[in-house]
Amino acid sequence: MTQAASTGSEIAVPLLDLKGQFAALKDEIMPRMEEVFDSQYFINGPAVKELEEAVAAYCECESGGAVGVSSGTDALVCALMALGIGPGDEVVTTPFTFFATVGSIARVGAKPVFVDIDPVTFNIDAAGIGSVITEKTKAIIPVHLFGQVADMDAVNDVAGRHGLAVIEDAAQAIGSTYKGRKAGSLGTVGCFSFFPSKNLGGAGDGGIITTTDAELRERLAVFRNHGGQPKYYHQHVGGNFRLDTLQAAYLLVKLKCLDGWHEGRRRNAAVYDAGLADVSQVATPRILEENETIYNQYCIRAENRDGLREHLGKRKIGSEIYYPLCLHEQECFADLGYSKGDFPEAERAASEVLAVPIYPELTEEQLNHVIVSIREFYA
Ligand SMILES: *Cc1c(COP(=O)(O)O)cnc(C)c1O
Repeated sequence: MTQAASTGSEIAVPLLDLKGQFAALKDEIMPRMEEVFDSQYFINGPAVKELEEAVAAYCECESGGAVGVSSGTDALVCALMALGIGPGDEVVTTPFTFFATVGSIARVGAKPVFVDIDPVTFNIDAAGIGSVITEKTKAIIPVHLFGQVADMDAVNDVAGRHGLAVIEDAAQAIGSTYKGRKAGSLGTVGCFSFFPSKNLGGAGDGGIITTTDAELRERLAVFRNHGGQPKYYHQHVGGNFRLDTLQAAYLLVKLKCLDGWHEGRRRNAAVYDAGLADVSQVATPRILEENETIYNQYCIRAENRDGLREHLGKRKIGSEIYYPLCLHEQECFADLGYSKGDFPEAERAASEVLAVPIYPELTEEQLNHVIVSIREFYA
């Protein structure tokens, strides 16, 4: 890059750069796109079913299946609707997640109920779930944040005791495993996002829902298409949550590369882990023995996080705060009655986390530049 050359030693490290990935696959992708255009079969074309079968197999959900949807958010909304969750119901989840997890609960008219996070994994602290369950509770949404799967045995255990559905928000965890089993196969349903910055990113918005339950798979498919069954006859009100054929065709090409990209991210994570191990002001991510993560993000905890972020910016290194304000502190959820201080671990995480570039195409030189720049800030 000319910019890097002009500043001498400084090389740029964007938070994410998808151009290299696309360039490597362009010759395979473009004919698939052309096929869809030639067919003019843009809605529910054959690639959608093909992708659903491929993802169901990839996520170990062959006994049920997968339903392609219009986004990760719509995956959550469609799942909640198909499970019959609405006004008067409560759904237990984490306050430290992307907005969509909680927004979806609110959008179907149900009430989000929060439980603080485990500071090691950033995921819902399952030990806290039991005490917030009421007769109105219908479901739990654990989020596999940054790619590390939540403590699913504990979540399923409390759900089983109270007869609750478990909706995995696996938007950041396609391919991640927990005790050797794939995310999306561990609860009642799994919700995935194909937002371009996710490990399996589309050419726009998209998502998919997985389940090991064949009957539920059919119900999800009905709700995805306005709730009509047969067409034009409605027992239910669903929505237009369909996945475009073009997205499915694009994603089918990328799915074959996914495990290789995950490997690259884990390799990069190991380089950061080693390079930052002795920096006392930084805590690198801790992945539990039972988990294998896909590192959708590599988030450190950092002392003087905002200062570090500014310093990295000066060194042309991209970073991001996932997430700066917990959900219980959002203005739109003020009527839930929570206040600052209610979830101290989530709030502490929001003030300490910083994601640094982790995408598989990063060069050794780029990784080293990130490590050196972090060390330089604390030196
Ligand atoms: C990305 C994401 C979503 C929403 O996915 P979209 O495809 O952007 O709608 C939901 N939950 C989490 C945790 C996410 O990271």
